[in-house]
Amino acid sequence: MFFGRYQSGEEGGDFSEDFFEHINALISWSCSMAKTNLIHKCLIFFITALVLSAQSTASRAEANFVSLPKIKNNTVAPRIIYIENPRFQAISPLDLQKVVQTARGLVNEHFGIAVKLPGKITTLKIDAIFPELIKNKPQQFDNLIGDFRNNKVDWTSIKELLIEQIKKQKDPLAKQIEFARPYLVTPLAKEEPGAFAQAVMTTMKERLLYWTEAKLDDGLPVIGAQPYNEYGYWTLMAKLGIEAEIVLTNQLVASVEYMPTPVHTSIRGGITGGATEYNPKSKYGASVWVSLFPYFSEDPQIKKLRNGDSYSRDEALTYAGIMLAHEMGHQLLQLGHPWSNKACLMRPAEVLDFSAWAKNLDAEKCRIDSSPAMKPGTAKAPIW
Ligand SMILES: [Zn+2]
Repeated sequence: MFFGRYQSGEEGGDFSEDFFEHINALISWSCSMAKTNLIHKCLIFFITALVLSAQSTASRAEANFVSLPKIKNNTVAPRIIYIENPRFQAISPLDLQKVVQTARGLVNEHFGIAVKLPGKITTLKIDAIFPELIKNKPQQFDNLIGDFRNNKVDWTSIKELLIEQIKKQKDPLAKQIEFARPYLVTPLAKEEPGAFAQAVMTTMKERLLYWTEAKLDDGLPVIGAQPYNEYGYWTLMAKLGIEAEIVLTNQLVASVEYMPTPVHTSIRGGITGGATEYNPKSKYGASVWVSLFPYFSEDPQIKKLRNGDSYSRDEALTYAGIMLAHEMGHQLLQLGHPWSNKACLMRPAEVLDFSAWAKNLDAEKCRIDSSPAMKPGTAKAPIW
């Protein structure tokens, strides 16, 4: 009932995109952001076999992207939905208001856009949403998802995809290693792409499989039988036209796909904190989703990636609001990631260290147009 009848969907974040062929003749979109430290996994796009017949060079040139939204009077009025998994930390309506109020203040301060908030944030149960997605998923959809729950991931392929990703980066290998080394669960055998990819893959595998063992308060694994944690389904939700510009959830999103995944995403175990995705029902052409889990969880693995920090409830709500504002910068202005300027809201946090991220923000030092990544229209979500 919440979904339209559109065909494919897509993506997350900012970047410059590459269209490239993929496993089993599927095509995926990938984020070619050089650099480290994202909060969210960059673009990964699922395109069905139906579209595959057009995967020639010509089709690359014709690839469609969401247009830069026209924002009247510098004011937006997003519809907001909260998708709740009752197994995870409860987030009250007041908490949600704090998150969106924080985002509203930052979007105004950093981007000069006024945000009119809805009087009410609609709450939907996750187990009412996903059956629709599962029913409407594209034919080849499951082929792109690594089935780690059943220990059926082809990790050798994941490693090869990582090598591809590592070699594509603008940063030299030594710099990539320097960033990742503190987070690797295994020592690096040699400083070369294959050994580095092996260590990153091992780290990703361990951190991702961890969630099938670690328990929530109900005594059951954080990641159970349902695919609620799968990045692909959150992308699909937007593509199928969920009626909202902003989607918040308390669900952990962590997964592995047979696509080149950035090293910084891999080392935190495939966690995606949020993304901006093509949504045909969104007023702005794309909707954003943000997972609140990384801010509220006190799980030891999450804390490790946040530099050992525990967050108060207010801190967690504030950081989630910052993350939402970041995604809205992708959605409303199609800004990219200005990696070299720590004052920028659009520069992603390092690993899950939101505290350091928040401290450095300074709108005066990161104005619109102040760098190539801060030019509106820089990072467009592909339409699939
Ligand atoms: Zn981003």
